Amino acid sequence: MSEKAQQTQNVLANLGTVLPDLESLYKDIHSHPELSMQENRTAGIAADRLRATGYDVTTGVGKTGVVGVMHNGDGPTIMLRADMDALPVREATGLPYASNATADENGKSVPVMHACGHDMHVTWLIGTATLFAQKRGAWRGTLMAVFQPAEETGEGAQAMIDDGLFKRFSKPEVILGQHVMVGSSGVVSYRSGVVTSAGDSFQIRMFGRGAHGSMPQSSIDPVVMAASTVLRLQTIVSREVAPTDAVVVTVGSLQAGTKENVIPDEAIIKLNLRTFDEDVRKHVLAAIERIVNAEAEASRSPKKPEITPLDRYYFVKNDPDATKRVADAFRSYFPADRVRETQPTTASEDFGCFGSGWQVPSVFWFVGGTDPDTYAKAKQSGTIADIPTNHNPRFAPVIHPTLETGIEALVVASQAWLTT
Ligand SMILES: [Zn+2]
Ligand SMILES: [Zn+2]
Repeated sequence: MSEKAQQTQNVLANLGTVLPDLESLYKDIHSHPELSMQENRTAGIAADRLRATGYDVTTGVGKTGVVGVMHNGDGPTIMLRADMDALPVREATGLPYASNATADENGKSVPVMHACGHDMHVTWLIGTATLFAQKRGAWRGTLMAVFQPAEETGEGAQAMIDDGLFKRFSKPEVILGQHVMVGSSGVVSYRSGVVTSAGDSFQIRMFGRGAHGSMPQSSIDPVVMAASTVLRLQTIVSREVAPTDAVVVTVGSLQAGTKENVIPDEAIIKLNLRTFDEDVRKHVLAAIERIVNAEAEASRSPKKPEITPLDRYYFVKNDPDATKRVADAFRSYFPADRVRETQPTTASEDFGCFGSGWQVPSVFWFVGGTDPDTYAKAKQSGTIADIPTNHNPRFAPVIHPTLETGIEALVVASQAWLTT
């Protein structure tokens, strides 16, 4: 066994000992989910845990973000990132540690659930930070553990950057992050290059003229205008984009009117777009604007539609050299059937902000969270799409071996940079 592999085993030697505590921590965080930018309890737990194991801790970075730094002799600085927020979803997993939590969202009480597995991410990073702190003889360098708020709203990474993350902390050599997804638990999947899509959301307000439902000649009907727009928008993917370029255009919300015999004044469309290439993205954005304006004009709209951006996620693009380093480290640690190369996912992430903003190579990979038997059977019967995905009220990663695999992956990947 190489010196590096030996030291990685040393860092992981206490994993079995800390696992029961981490399992209760995971269940505790799962049953106390917090919405984006409200992650006060979760951030407090992360900060306490980091302090207790000897990290220098800065809290309140980008509102609720936490940064823990441990200097441990000469060597590279590496940044590890976990996101902390949950979603306004009513949990339907039936798990004994399911969430009953509610929270305030824009003045309205909503159910809250860790439906994207960020509770797992927080536990992974706490576990990893703890193991490194317990075995300081097995590595040299500086560890920077970043607990990020508000990934789900696309604001958290940027909020930490706007709050001086790049100025207040020294620049790392690499930034590493991971996400739990549908996939066989115990398996890690990586990919070089673009790994998650760019996401853009818009609200489109289309204007008509209201009238009595019996007198359409006096109206400019925004319902027909919006319906026609929604259909035409679907031709962007089918008629304007090359079949080899993947794009998603989803209209997730279409609202107009209150009553069957009243033609309303306006209609509101909410639209979400996913792309994997900047040129394709620009083309689709231009096509959306062109179609929306042309449909309004075709309907004699009295006013140009208003197109308002709602949120934006950049691509997550894995640095090829850094990805190779992570993949090689995974392959030398995990058995061959537990490391896979994967396709890009249409999900989006704000993890990419850190690397692109700081000009630091970054790598983001996936850890399976589905019971291996369930996954194997679903694969055999062609029903993988039926397994509840992230954001589904029944999304329920199995704790083992998902918990230990994520910690092993983070330690192994970190050790590929740290001096041993
Ligand atoms: Zn999510
Ligand atoms: Zn997520």
